[in-house]
Amino acid sequence: MLIVQKFGGTSVGDLERIQNVANRVSESVKKGNDVVVVVSAMSGETNKLVGYAEHFSKDPARAEMDMLLSSGERVTASLLSIALQEMGHQATAMSGRKAGIVTDKHHTKARIEEIDPSAMQEAVKEGKIVVVAGFQGVNAEGDITTLGRGGSDLSAVAIAGALKADLCEIYTDVSGIYTTDPRIEPKAKKLDKISYDEMLELASLGAKVLQNRSVEMAKKLNVNLVTRTSFSNEEGTLITKEENIMEAPLVSGIALDRNQARISLFGVKDRPGIASDIFNRLASAEVNVDMIIQNKAVDETTNIDFTVPVGDLSDAKAIVDSFVQNGEINADSYNEDICKVSVVGVGMRSHTGVAAKAFSTMADNNININMISTSEIKISMVIDEKYAELAVRGLHDAYELDK
Ligand code: ADP
Ligand code: ASP
Ligand code: MG
Repeated sequence: MLIVQKFGGTSVGDLERIQNVANRVSESVKKGNDVVVVVSAMSGETNKLVGYAEHFSKDPARAEMDMLLSSGERVTASLLSIALQEMGHQATAMSGRKAGIVTDKHHTKARIEEIDPSAMQEAVKEGKIVVVAGFQGVNAEGDITTLGRGGSDLSAVAIAGALKADLCEIYTDVSGIYTTDPRIEPKAKKLDKISYDEMLELASLGAKVLQNRSVEMAKKLNVNLVTRTSFSNEEGTLITKEENIMEAPLVSGIALDRNQARISLFGVKDRPGIASDIFNRLASAEVNVDMIIQNKAVDETTNIDFTVPVGDLSDAKAIVDSFVQNGEINADSYNEDICKVSVVGVGMRSHTGVAAKAFSTMADNNININMISTSEIKISMVIDEKYAELAVRGLHDAYELDK
């Protein structure tokens, strides 16, 4: 079998853990598998580098940030390769560039455009263990780019797709995908299987156990994806096609996203095309807009509220402020003390009353709902951040996910 194994920050968090990863990889190789490894930076390393840059600038140039941040993954890739060589294996460490990962030009959140897997394939053919530095690629100009926070998951899935690997294993610090973040609700249960669509919703709605774009890519390329822990041999969670799951539960999980900010626009000129102008500008700047609500005001204007990830707030502010300056919007305001809680499950498609139960759970806990959005398989609510945990635990109980 050809297996891609990705090890996250905690799994390579110190030198002893890197040795533990080397031992695991070595075991897989001894079983006769070809292994391509993708590694994250040591835990805390990327944040430390961000802090270094912020020491000098509030808004450091993104090209420089990519040069800087990509270094964390190179450290672990090199060290793991050295550890494997020391154990008698043939191993080779590769940067994103050497691994053939070509991205678009959007520094700090680049998208993978194509992968030329020939260097990896050649090394595997020569019997080598390939160790790729995750989270990074190179754009058409040859500059280093990074794939957004948590992006090593995407590197792993994309590489698994390009190599047509039999399996892509994501090793992390929890033993799989749980009904909610086990750090918030200790009663959370590990799922044996979850569909791509549900996992994509959970990840997009804040469950950082997998980066959302990695799940999207896994679905698109039909990659067999397993999430498991690097600290024991416990079985993990299979992320697979919906038809491979016999009994879809009504609700699979609860997600929490604390990294959301709400932007309110007051007195927006009520003319055709205004929403298109604002949101197209935001989209071109790669600002990830989520919930949008519009209310008609009494005069010739409307009010629009929407949410964006906190990381996109400064870009969003600059754009929105320019509409205020040219008089198309009267005023704007921002609130970062919000969070988004979501209930996800494919079973919702065929059941009624799922949303009503979510709303009454908020009511029972005296939590005010600021915004609501729903799709076929999810209900999301924006609430004050201080109620985040209360809401997650309340919903987990209400849908009996601990049973
Ligand atoms: P890594 O460094 O290995 O990439 P992350 O910290 O990015 O790991 O992701 C793992 C974390 O995701 C867990 O420690 C857990 O707190 C969090 N998490 C959030 N939601 C879930 C969930 N539904 N199931 C499992 N873990 C979750
Ligand atoms: N090191 C990067 C981050 O912390 C990428 C990753 O770990 O997946 O976001
Ligand atoms: Mg991660």
